[in-house]
Amino acid sequence: MFNSLSDRLTSTFKNLKGKGRLTDADIDATAREIRRALLDADVAVPVVREFIGQVKERALGSEVSQALNPGQQVVKIVNDELVQILGGDTRRISLAKNPPTVIMLVGLQGAGKTTLAGKLSKHLKDQGHTPLLVAADLQRPNAVKQLQVNGERAGVPVFAPHPGVSSEFEAATGDPVQVARDGVAEARNRQYDVVIVDTAGRLGVDAELMEQAANIRTAVQPDEVLFVIDAMIGQDAVATAQAFNDGVGFTGVVLTKLDGDARGGAALSVRSVTGKPVMFASTGEALTDFEVFHPDRMASRILDMGDVMSLIEQAERSWDKAEAQKMAQKFVDQEDFTLDDFLNQMQQLKKMGSMKKLLMMMPGAQGMRQQLEQFDDRQIDRIEAIIRSMTPHERVAPKIINGSRRARIAKGSGVHVSEVNGLLERFGQAQKMMKKMAAGGGGMPGMPGMP
Ligand code: GDP
Repeated sequence: MFNSLSDRLTSTFKNLKGKGRLTDADIDATAREIRRALLDADVAVPVVREFIGQVKERALGSEVSQALNPGQQVVKIVNDELVQILGGDTRRISLAKNPPTVIMLVGLQGAGKTTLAGKLSKHLKDQGHTPLLVAADLQRPNAVKQLQVNGERAGVPVFAPHPGVSSEFEAATGDPVQVARDGVAEARNRQYDVVIVDTAGRLGVDAELMEQAANIRTAVQPDEVLFVIDAMIGQDAVATAQAFNDGVGFTGVVLTKLDGDARGGAALSVRSVTGKPVMFASTGEALTDFEVFHPDRMASRILDMGDVMSLIEQAERSWDKAEAQKMAQKFVDQEDFTLDDFLNQMQQLKKMGSMKKLLMMMPGAQGMRQQLEQFDDRQIDRIEAIIRSMTPHERVAPKIINGSRRARIAKGSGVHVSEVNGLLERFGQAQKMMKKMAAGGGGMPGMPGMP
């Protein structure tokens, strides 16, 4: 996510490290480098101009903090300004006073609307809402079917034209405006409290597409119109956003495909150019690759200061509280930490999503990207397989596992015996460490044995 921009900015700041005082020339040089980094990342020219203007003004101005050295001060200014261009405060869905809240998705074909519809519905469902998805994209063959699949994954019902008939021909003959209207009526009758209307996109901006979207907007009077945009489309993002803003109008933006190697800067410009906030980010094809967009946290990630808040929230969402309590109690009682407990913790961790993505949220992760990128999420599956090949007794008392058992376990789990040895060794050390910590009466159980 914003990798190259992040690299460029952090290396610019490195040059300022250790400087006792910044001369005007230092500030000029830094501003020039930041400017180049932003332009290379596809941030729109007027946005860059404004940004650099602000940074220079503040850096040259009398803004001096006793607590920060000059280099840190520049980082702080850049951070503040990044938060500003990203939209300032986090903007959440505004719910209708009289449900259902109607959310309409617009954007080009392939932007990721249908995928997003599934993710957003899951997100809302997890927050206790009762969403209904409405398939009003009757343009793209298979879009209705795709939404039905996404809905099923999210556990959210889908209102589609001709219920029960998923024939592309039938769907294609439907009227999207009518489908959208019927979908919202259905939600009202059946008391769903949020409706997400997926609409058709085209490969490029065209008048007919805008008209259809505008007609749907008029028909269903949405509380939110979310413009979904692929972060990988580069400079075109700004023009596309403007066209949709003029043609249909929208209340918020969703950036998709932020997992790609996109320069992403164009997407950063959308807020400044349209004045509409980025509300969500999509970072992959899985249902869990979805985040509420927090400008401050995103700025922090770009400047490689990590995003620990998001990590904690993700943990809270997926962590099973009863299990966590049981673990903590075991720790207090100084009971042995077993491989079963370890397996359990790994499963909890897996629920949080990709390990690689989680690690990338740690402060300093950008600087270690190359190493982290080599992290293979399947490694966790291998460890799981090894533990599962052990008998229940072995998992509680791994010391009894002798050479021939190790070979058998390796065979059973399809790994080399050295991996079994490695796991047992690390686990033994971790167990000792936990004992010491428990005896010392402090700390929380960590994640022993992690590769
Ligand atoms: P729509 O035409 O706007 O409905 O776009 P789709 O939802 O069908 O998405 C187009 C393609 O992009 C599909 O292959 C999706 O799996 C993929 N896609 C959507 N969102 C993301 C994302 O955040 N990251 C990645 N890597 N792929 C995505």
